[in-house]
Amino acid sequence: MQNTVTPLATALPELKPGFRLVPAKVGKPDAAQIVWVECPDFCVEDHVDEHVWNVEDISHSGAPAVLNLASDQSAGLPIEVSLSWWPSSDGVASRPCLAVDIDREVAVYGRTGALAVADQIAAFAENVRRLAETLPDETPAPVPSQADEALRRVRGVTA
Ligand SMILES: [Zn+2]
Repeated sequence: MQNTVTPLATALPELKPGFRLVPAKVGKPDAAQIVWVECPDFCVEDHVDEHVWNVEDISHSGAPAVLNLASDQSAGLPIEVSLSWWPSSDGVASRPCLAVDIDREVAVYGRTGALAVADQIAAFAENVRRLAETLPDETPAPVPSQADEALRRVRGVTA
């Protein structure tokens, strides 16, 4: 009798470079299942923790970079950018893209658009630096010595 190895009936699909298979929890809360989905390397989502009802609702997001210009004002909202991918969507987000989130309004850009956004932000930062460099020096004004104070009193100058 000969021992034979039966090949697996189904082979895993080949992954594109930059992607991995990850578990995702999908379905109604009382009947959710774990499925395996293609997830880009940039994605930091936990697709089991981020439970969705339909596979089409799965999206991928990278770690955000945040520009918070008004942290001491509750009305001030940060600008957040991250890599993003909504496989089931139409348009730019159907491929990995740059998501720019300003007050929950999210704009998405492909590579060319994202590079243009980066150029605009770099130009803006350069203007901020140019203006900041015109501001007066912040070294504290010298504290008057006791001799200066005594001289002021003698001369009758009030503070
Ligand atoms: Zn993902």
